[in-house]
Amino acid sequence: MLRLNEIKLPVNHKEEDIETEIIKRLKLKNSDLLGYKIFKRSYDARKKDNVIFVYSIDAEIINEKKVLANLKKYKNVRISPDMDYKFNIKASEKLSDRPVIVGTGPCGLFAALILAENGFRPVVIERGKAVKERSLDTFGFWKGGVLNPGSNVQFGEGGAGTFSDGKLNTQIKDPNHYGRKVLQELVNSGAPEEILYISKPHVGTFKLVRVVENLRNTIISLGGEFRFESRADDILIEDNKIKGISLNNGQNLLSEQIVFAIGHSARDTFRMLHNKGVSMEPKPFSIGFRIEHPQELINKSRLGVYSADSRIGAADYKLVHHCTSGRSVYSFCMCPGGRVVAATSEIECVVTNGMSQYLRDEQNANSAIVVGVEPKDYPDGALGGMKFQEQIEKQAYILGGSNYYAPAQLVGDFLEGKPSEAEGSVHPSYQPGVKFTDLGSALPEFAVSAIREAIPFFDKQINGFAMKDAVLTGVETRTSSPVRIVRGQNFQSVNVKGLYPGGEGAGYAGGIISAAVDGIKIAEAVAIDIMKKGNKD
Ligand SMILES: Cc1cc2nc3c(=O)[nH]c(=O)nc-3n(C[C@H](O)[C@H](O)[C@H](O)COP(=O)(O)OP(=O)(O)OC[C@H]3O[C@@H](n4cnc5c(N)ncnc54)[C@H](O)[C@@H]3O)c2cc1C
Repeated sequence: MLRLNEIKLPVNHKEEDIETEIIKRLKLKNSDLLGYKIFKRSYDARKKDNVIFVYSIDAEIINEKKVLANLKKYKNVRISPDMDYKFNIKASEKLSDRPVIVGTGPCGLFAALILAENGFRPVVIERGKAVKERSLDTFGFWKGGVLNPGSNVQFGEGGAGTFSDGKLNTQIKDPNHYGRKVLQELVNSGAPEEILYISKPHVGTFKLVRVVENLRNTIISLGGEFRFESRADDILIEDNKIKGISLNNGQNLLSEQIVFAIGHSARDTFRMLHNKGVSMEPKPFSIGFRIEHPQELINKSRLGVYSADSRIGAADYKLVHHCTSGRSVYSFCMCPGGRVVAATSEIECVVTNGMSQYLRDEQNANSAIVVGVEPKDYPDGALGGMKFQEQIEKQAYILGGSNYYAPAQLVGDFLEGKPSEAEGSVHPSYQPGVKFTDLGSALPEFAVSAIREAIPFFDKQINGFAMKDAVLTGVETRTSSPVRIVRGQNFQSVNVKGLYPGGEGAGYAGGIISAAVDGIKIAEAVAIDIMKKGNKD
């Protein structure tokens, strides 16, 4: 296979134009081209009147050796590298101690998949329900305002990213092709094939539900086992080594390898681990509001057109402003053509987040506009950040009217510091509903003033960002974990051997792909550890 980079074609090109370009670039006869696959596709929208696609293509040709012998003569052509993920430590047939995985978010699911693929038959426990039943609870909360604290946006099969935009970008360095493995498995489970090659892949909520279900079935078919509505409430430790966990149904599950992939919202589990003396420390995260604009405004500013070509999709943005106070304000988890969602897992708290369907075809664009906070802002020990988050979410619940409505304000009023009374031209998408008020007291003063300073700067990059009727909805607090469960060698807790903290909740990932990749690395470490112990017995 040969990889051809930097193939540039107009957005409205025909499929056969790719073939023509390969043949021209490699100086081939038509019949020499056996086939091709798109490896990567991005778009360049710097010139708004001439948006182009930029491709990397893997081509299979007759007589590849001839091209390889004169590679220097061909511009932007090289051998396609082998990007397959490989791991080959297989469980012995007499495996007696099955590893346990707590949590079925991307970290837990991918740890389970790798262990199952290699014969380690993991037992996976999840406090929430299987994804279909969980969807009913989550959509039920959005419609009716009745929260099930065990089954919601944060808790249940698939983890926090299930009802999301399903953005799959990541900036991690990946020489072992873990990210590619994740994307390929998502495709095998029903995600669109294009996520393997487009530059900003996303899956969308409804498709993600099916993908999660299929992944579970694959893991079961490979010897894994799932237990839903099973919460890890305690850990059993002897001589600084983990021996098992106690579940909410009173049973103990014994194992010397337990992965804690619990996400950033499991406050009760964080408290339990902390009380048990597992080493933890506070970690920086961010707080802010969701902002909503008409998607057309974003398309016009980014692409020069109101309605984007369907192959490019609705436009997104990424913004940063460094404030005079030294704080940074940035846009986070931008969801084109999506909606703002109620994302609390705790009674009497209000938390926002964002999601989109695959087509990203709803009226509004949303993103979180957040300010970085750090342990000096919550100097109360390892759980200080978590308590700080909790306080802000409880205050938002009260500001919203104590019925799970979220407090909201028009951007014009927010910038002028006066309360809003009703929506303008932008309809807020948050369900069960919003209460217009003054968001000035929803966050600490330093955060409110930083966001007030940043919005006019963002308006210089996206014309209309500070539009009077854009809506701010509060509060965005679950941007990443407020704690780190400290790992030492081989991905294990520094002070409890056999306990593997992983993913976003442990503070070692941020987003679906990086959490899944962390899960794969942990699975490798667990497999190696089990085999070492087995060899000693
Ligand atoms: C609405 C929303 C939209 C998002 N959009 C995106 C996006 O587009 N792209 C992106 O990259 N990221 C997105 N994220 C972030 C992403 O979801 C997380 O980074 C990712 O899910 C973290 O994976 P994880 O496996 O570490 O933890 P989680 O996905 O949080 O999974 C943890 C799991 O552990 C379970 N659990 C917790 N405690 C226990 C216990 N004691 N016993 C048993 N089970 C337990 C929970 O129920 C949960 O299922 C979004 C998040 C939300 C909430």
